[in-house]
Amino acid sequence: ARTQVYQGRFAPSPTGPLHFGSMLAAVASYADARACGGRWLVRMEDIDRPREVPGAATDILETLAAFGLEWDEPIIYQRERTQAYADALASLTRQGRTYPCGCSRAEIARHGRPGPEGPVYPGTCRAGLPPDRQPRSLRLKADARPLHFTDRIQGDQTQSVRDSVGDFVLRRADGIHAYQLAVVVDDASQGITHVVRGADLLLSTPRQILLQQALGVAQPSYAHIPLMLDAQGRKLSKSLASAPVDAADPLPALRKAWTCLGQTPLGRVGSPAEFWRRAIATWRIERVPPHRHLDPEAKRQPR
Ligand code: GLU
Repeated sequence: ARTQVYQGRFAPSPTGPLHFGSMLAAVASYADARACGGRWLVRMEDIDRPREVPGAATDILETLAAFGLEWDEPIIYQRERTQAYADALASLTRQGRTYPCGCSRAEIARHGRPGPEGPVYPGTCRAGLPPDRQPRSLRLKADARPLHFTDRIQGDQTQSVRDSVGDFVLRRADGIHAYQLAVVVDDASQGITHVVRGADLLLSTPRQILLQQALGVAQPSYAHIPLMLDAQGRKLSKSLASAPVDAADPLPALRKAWTCLGQTPLGRVGSPAEFWRRAIATWRIERVPPHRHLDPEAKRQPR
């Protein structure tokens, strides 16, 4: 039998050029994979076609290459994976774990109590679609039992998906499969053993574990790196028009990413290849600050 290898990944959404916060996740996942002697894959999460920005996928891949990041397999594009998502959904439906929902976002906002990720779905359509309703989305019947996992950076995590999120969407009203389903199907089919990504997805992880259990696939280990805040204390995201990293000048951003990740400065390096030789030799995930947020300007990090 083959011993389990380390298989890591970076999974950008092509909604704009790569900004520094995403680069941080790319650098952390790459360094961790290579330092563990593992493989590293890139998956283009272009499932949300309405949000895709033309040219962004190519732009992101060119930027990763300019930063010296080398992927080990051809890129998977989620837009080509619809059948795999439909198959997983069919399996959940056969198990009686899904139901059609006719609620609009506005109704859920009105009736759902506030949760850590927005209104908790109140279960309106769980017992059957009310007679005057058209099915819109398809939801998973979430368990109330608390799910535990130990994040390699953020430590012990517990969440009852039912209490914190409620029954969640697997296929949206526009027919697009939800990120939560796609990411679980793809991580499993690509044999991902280690997920290293931004802490904005920490609260999504219990939903993904729930789906892994329901689909009978392996659960990867998780490490969520702190999110960067901008000068106003807002989290950096592509939609906030945060400055894209400069593919023509990768070394300053690589060095900054390295110190943001709590790693020992590497001294003078002349090229991304030299940066990575030293970085891979010295990477220690234990040095990553165990915070949800990181203020790039602050001397001391908020807890
Ligand atoms: N595509 C997601 C994003 O860009 C990341 C998904 C993941 O790493 O699980 O935010």
